[in-house]
Amino acid sequence: LTSREFHPTDTVVDVDGLKIGGEENFVTMAGPCSIEGLDQIMECARIAKAGGATVLRGGAFKPRTSPYAFQGLEEEGLKYIRQAADKFDMKVITEVMDEANLELVAKYTDILQIGARNMQNFKLLTAVGKTGLPVALKRGISGTIDEWLNAAEYIAAQGNQKVIFVERGIRTYETATRNTLDLSAVPVIQKLSHFPIIVDPSHGVGVWDYVTPMAVAGIASGASGMIVEIHPNPSQAWSDGQQSLNEKRYMNMMEQIHVMEKAM
Ligand code: PEP
Ligand code: MN
Repeated sequence: LTSREFHPTDTVVDVDGLKIGGEENFVTMAGPCSIEGLDQIMECARIAKAGGATVLRGGAFKPRTSPYAFQGLEEEGLKYIRQAADKFDMKVITEVMDEANLELVAKYTDILQIGARNMQNFKLLTAVGKTGLPVALKRGISGTIDEWLNAAEYIAAQGNQKVIFVERGIRTYETATRNTLDLSAVPVIQKLSHFPIIVDPSHGVGVWDYVTPMAVAGIASGASGMIVEIHPNPSQAWSDGQQSLNEKRYMNMMEQIHVMEKAM
């Protein structure tokens, strides 16, 4: 069901009127790594919207490497991001980490994000497939293309044709960047699957200086959109500040993206 052999033309994922994939415009999803409070997410939404993003990102359930790191505001955070997105007429994307919280997350979000660490959580994939909501499926930290396609199949097997692949970098021997953004995955996935693919330059490189060039490379590669981390004050961010763009850097990146959009 994920394969292009099954469905030769591009699937355009409709997120409540916002279209992702095919010949549709490049879609930008922007926001903080974590929702930290109402004021913070409101300010992020204002910045995101000003640059041209149409989807507000932000985690309320955070998959942190250390169990002692901030784990997210949970339902309180979901309420805040919904409020901020509605105020700025944006859609919401947020991560669901487990089946236990799926119903709760689905109540507030427009797109369910499956994190890299859960790419092969087959029970969760089946459960999100059943919701019928659009699902942004991040590539596993060491996930091969074939494993990623099979993960998407778990969602599609439930009758859900709203899958969005997210290339967020893979683990390699390189340590200068947090991950290695595999931009070749964009044309590869496009050849093998009809579902759209977007890029995540933030987790892809893990260092804010490198985010803009990789975002521009992402649109040049033919991706249908990107998801990027921003923060009003990155040095104070509760998570992933080192890879978050401040307002000025984000606006500068989006200027370049808008130039690329016209050129594509
Ligand atoms: C995130 O989007 O903040 C995140 C945790 O991403 P990933 O699952 O790609 O690491
Ligand atoms: Mn993050």
